[in-house]
Amino acid sequence: MQEIKDLIAVSRYYGQDNRYVIAGGGNTSYKNSEKIWVKASGSALATIDVEGFAILDREKLKAVSEKEYSNDSSEREEQVKNDLAAATLTKGKRPSVETSMHNSIDYAFVVHLHPTIVNALMCAQHTEIELKKLFGEKTLYVEYTDPGYLLFKKVESKIKAYRASFNEEPKVIWLQNHGIFVAADSVDEIKEIYTDIFSKLEAAITDPLPDGDVEVSSNVVEVLPAIKMMLSTEDLKTLKVRNNALINHFSESEENQKLIAVPFTPDAIVYCKSNYIFLNSESPEAILEEAKEQNALFAEKNEYLPKIILIKNIGLVAVGDNAKQCDTILDVYEDAMKIAYLSQSFGGAHPMTQEQIDFIDNWEVENYRRSVAKGEVSGRVQNKTFVITGAAQGFGEGIARCLIEEGANIVVADLNEDIGRTTVDELNSIATNNRVVFVKTAVSKIPSLEQLMHDTVCNFGAIDCFISNAGVLRAGDLEHLSPEDFNFVTTINYNAYFYCTKVVSRIMKLQTKFASNNYFADIIQINSKSGLRGSKANFAYAGGKFGGIGLTQSFALELAPFRIKVNSICPGNYYDGPLWSNPENGLFVQYLKAGKVPGAKTVEDVKEFYLAQSPMRKGCSPEDVTKAILYLIDQTGETGQALPITGGQVMLN
Ligand SMILES: [Zn+2]
Repeated sequence: MQEIKDLIAVSRYYGQDNRYVIAGGGNTSYKNSEKIWVKASGSALATIDVEGFAILDREKLKAVSEKEYSNDSSEREEQVKNDLAAATLTKGKRPSVETSMHNSIDYAFVVHLHPTIVNALMCAQHTEIELKKLFGEKTLYVEYTDPGYLLFKKVESKIKAYRASFNEEPKVIWLQNHGIFVAADSVDEIKEIYTDIFSKLEAAITDPLPDGDVEVSSNVVEVLPAIKMMLSTEDLKTLKVRNNALINHFSESEENQKLIAVPFTPDAIVYCKSNYIFLNSESPEAILEEAKEQNALFAEKNEYLPKIILIKNIGLVAVGDNAKQCDTILDVYEDAMKIAYLSQSFGGAHPMTQEQIDFIDNWEVENYRRSVAKGEVSGRVQNKTFVITGAAQGFGEGIARCLIEEGANIVVADLNEDIGRTTVDELNSIATNNRVVFVKTAVSKIPSLEQLMHDTVCNFGAIDCFISNAGVLRAGDLEHLSPEDFNFVTTINYNAYFYCTKVVSRIMKLQTKFASNNYFADIIQINSKSGLRGSKANFAYAGGKFGGIGLTQSFALELAPFRIKVNSICPGNYYDGPLWSNPENGLFVQYLKAGKVPGAKTVEDVKEFYLAQSPMRKGCSPEDVTKAILYLIDQTGETGQALPITGGQVMLN
């Protein structure tokens, strides 16, 4: 059907542009005389297709307009929801609560959005005066009304009054502290109307938004890990920082902070709640003192934890239940900042009243109960943040992939930027509420590792587990291996493990200081079976790996009082990986050609020879190593250990 194609196209057009749709706000519809197609809850305009719309019977939908409902608001919303469900032809798809409003507008297409620039006017002191000045006397303006049934009835009566006075159907409906509805019989006309509205509003802005990047202060690593743990006494939270010229405008002055202290729209409350923390101290110690006090005050006043903390010189911090939620919180609150700033052109900002806020808060409590009742699937390291060095490819990539499925957030720290970024995109495509980021890292350079810590803290707030995995191999016997090669292998496999532990332990100590006593952080070195047993003509590698176990034991002794466990995992050979199994130049092929295995005639013979060296007749995979990682994190009774995963090839004394 062409109309549905048009509906999908116009939905995506506005949905993909964050000037018009933030965090899934807004919805669209098409109707004929019998049915209405309206965006179903849970689908996003940006990517919507036919399946994203609920279809409702318009005859049955009349009930919502005509029926008398309960005076108790939560009982009433429940009744309305049931009637909406009864009118829904596509069972299992929940139509938006705004469906009745779409149905009451007598045009084929309706596009409802919460655009920033529209809300700059809708959340202003002089909304009505400015609206008439810009768009004439015939504007249909609806004063703020609690969302749901009451807003629908208000809009419905306003439409009737409009028809009576102007003898025509309104195409634009302006909603105070909420957004806008635009309706027409074609999507082209809807686009024309929106274009006209946006250009008039833009021309009316006298003071454009501050633009440009502002760096997050380097002391973020001395602040955020502590705040994250203060707020993670029940569930592990994820924190994310954003900074720019607009955020800096509000974070640098207490005067400006007042302008964003109270929410402007129901959306803002849904995602960011209605109370925020502003920290204005300068030094890390003073910021943490202030954070402790403010958190205590916040806990006294509210039944929830803060979602938003604005810190001078650091930026806007989202406190999310997971990494995905952090992005939404940042987008929605930054939008509120834009509204506060731009509304100066229309007489200044007009926040919601306490009564209006309380209604949304209560509504949210109901929703929350429902979502909790549903129960969430959770991985074994849900929301924990891992840094994995050398994770762009190979074994490290395999470990990262397995940990994603267990709910982890991951920082891929690698020197290889091209492959690293491709890997991160791929891993993000299998992530759910967790996220993966790439940070270009040279593990042998302290400044590069400090940048890695900074970027990790900015993205996730802290580091729960550091996996030192990056390693190199240059084999050679005493006759041939050069001192340069020996130094290279030793620097990456041995020295760098010290450098990494030096920078990450500082952050972990800060975390455990502010965390509850049952919280432990982990440092895990991916060692090798060559760290437990010598390796012929491969001494540079084996020596570094033996040394690594000495470091693990010594770090473990030093860090145990800080509840930081340090362990090594010693995997056997990854026979199924490309190093061994590549059909062109894998080690199996090379060893066959070199006659290294006496009597071997095929690659299978060579493989058989190696498998026979392990009692369990198997190599070691990233899955095996991930299980060892999960075990080491889970347990709290061991540190300083070297755990072999070799199929019994190497056994401990
Ligand atoms: Zn809306």
